[in-house]
Amino acid sequence: AIEVKDLHKRFGPLEVLKGISLTARQGDVIAVIGGSGSGKSTFLRCINMLELPSAGSITIHGETIAMKKDGHGGLMPANRKQVQRIRSQLGMVFQSFNLWQHMTVLQNVIEVPVHVLGMPKDKAIDIAETLLRRVGLHEKRDAYPAFLSGGQQQRAAIARALAIQPLVMLFDEPTSALDPELVGEVLAVIGDLAREKRTMLLVTHEMKFAREVSNHVVFLHNGLIEEQGPPDAVFGDPKSERLKKFISSIH
Ligand code: ATP
Ligand code: MG
Repeated sequence: AIEVKDLHKRFGPLEVLKGISLTARQGDVIAVIGGSGSGKSTFLRCINMLELPSAGSITIHGETIAMKKDGHGGLMPANRKQVQRIRSQLGMVFQSFNLWQHMTVLQNVIEVPVHVLGMPKDKAIDIAETLLRRVGLHEKRDAYPAFLSGGQQQRAAIARALAIQPLVMLFDEPTSALDPELVGEVLAVIGDLAREKRTMLLVTHEMKFAREVSNHVVFLHNGLIEEQGPPDAVFGDPKSERLKKFISSIH
């Protein structure tokens, strides 16, 4: 579903991604782990073009994002329509929920389907209600985000991301801004999606969860994939010293 080849990203003099290649096939649940500053968020943000890669290619559902030189040594999308189309196949969930505060939960969930993708409103509401039921938030459909707990807000954000019926879900530390007692309810929702074999890339510090739900784990260090493999190998029998150190530092 996603193929990334030799992805580089620099911010001025700082090269944050130094050549990352990764393929996510339909149904893959890929956990991305690594220390702070290793480039995990930048990697996800490049995939949905929130950041523009400096070099390399990204192919989503067989369609390679066309890039051209931006005149400053970087790249820019050659075709805005294509970027929009590709973005509409990716559901992104951030650490900080990012719900629209002036909209109710239901309005948050139907906003992009109706106003960006042109879905008829009744159909979008139907889909939204089904999704809100799934994430256990149906009774909060008319509440504003400020009146929800962090866990509820994050579940609403997941419903919102699912509402575009994305091919791939991208999660960037979806539980790390939550109070510990609220982490479980959000992981339960993500775990359900993983068990349904929804294709996803999941950046997380929840190692036990990553081991349970993923079928492939990627350890980033300093902008490169230092080690990758099936979860039992990566967590149970790490090869690189850095990964060993990282795993023991987390527990
Ligand atoms: P964390 O676990 O703390 O979220 P991360 O692995 O997600 O870390 P990134 O956020 O991808 O790391 O950041 C990687 C590096 O890129 C860091 O050194 C960061 O300071 C730098 N960086 C990220 N975004 C920008 C930006 N917009 N401008 C300049 N530098 C940036
Ligand atoms: Mg990050």
